[in-house]
Amino acid sequence: MDVSKGFGGVVALSSVSLGVGAGEILGIIGPNGSGKTTLFNVVTGMLRADAGRVRLHGEELGGRRPFEICQRGIGRTFQIPRPFAHMSVLDNAMVGALFGGGQRGALAERAALTALAQVGLGDRPERPAASLTLAERKRLELARALASGPSVLLLDEVLGGLDTAEVQGIVELVLDLRSGGLAVAMIEHVLPALMQVADRVAVLAGGTLIALGAPGEVVKERSVIESYLGPRARFTMEGGQGR
Ligand code: ADP
Ligand code: MG
Repeated sequence: MDVSKGFGGVVALSSVSLGVGAGEILGIIGPNGSGKTTLFNVVTGMLRADAGRVRLHGEELGGRRPFEICQRGIGRTFQIPRPFAHMSVLDNAMVGALFGGGQRGALAERAALTALAQVGLGDRPERPAASLTLAERKRLELARALASGPSVLLLDEVLGGLDTAEVQGIVELVLDLRSGGLAVAMIEHVLPALMQVADRVAVLAGGTLIALGAPGEVVKERSVIESYLGPRARFTMEGGQGR
């Protein structure tokens, strides 16, 4: 993709050019307000780019609606999980299969159950989503996205607010998804975990892509340290990599 997007006077994205391949995890980092979520909103058709293109397997997606883009294979999770609280875990996951996956009836239910098992929520699919912990709600977000049968998965801060063990659990899940051949792009502020899993890291600042490369290289770039990490954070992160 290569996209630009503004809101009134704010340039949220300025010619951001990025791609992610099958079996790859692309990390996306940057300060709050740097355009990360807007990027996902443009890719998934929730917002229309002012300029540029979004392509999936060579097909132009610009102008298509969110459910069409999801049915073509781009699944996403939202930064703040808002499941339908009164509905069961299974029915929430089925929303992904029905609307994002274009599946019907028993097939949709099977896709939802498979996705729930994949994320570790396979037992008690009948319980209400309102009874889930934050970590479980994040897993349900993942299940809903997986139930649509994506080839590309966009994760918006799935690790935020979780404790170390919960982070590790979801990290392992994301690694499994990569092994299964999914292309994964993940926006994340939990840097030690991101650095552990990402094959490449993209850094946004003020709507501009300021760095892209291997995690260990990107964190050494002066522009990245100045705009986002700061000298102390850099030290912490390298500690997180076991250096
Ligand atoms: P991030 O996810 O990196 O924190 P966002 O993509 O949410 O950043 O926001 C990027 C910029 O665009 C911010 O200045 C934000 O205030 C602005 N913005 C995002 N969405 C909208 C919107 N729907 N309307 C107006 N401004 C928006
Ligand atoms: Mg965001």
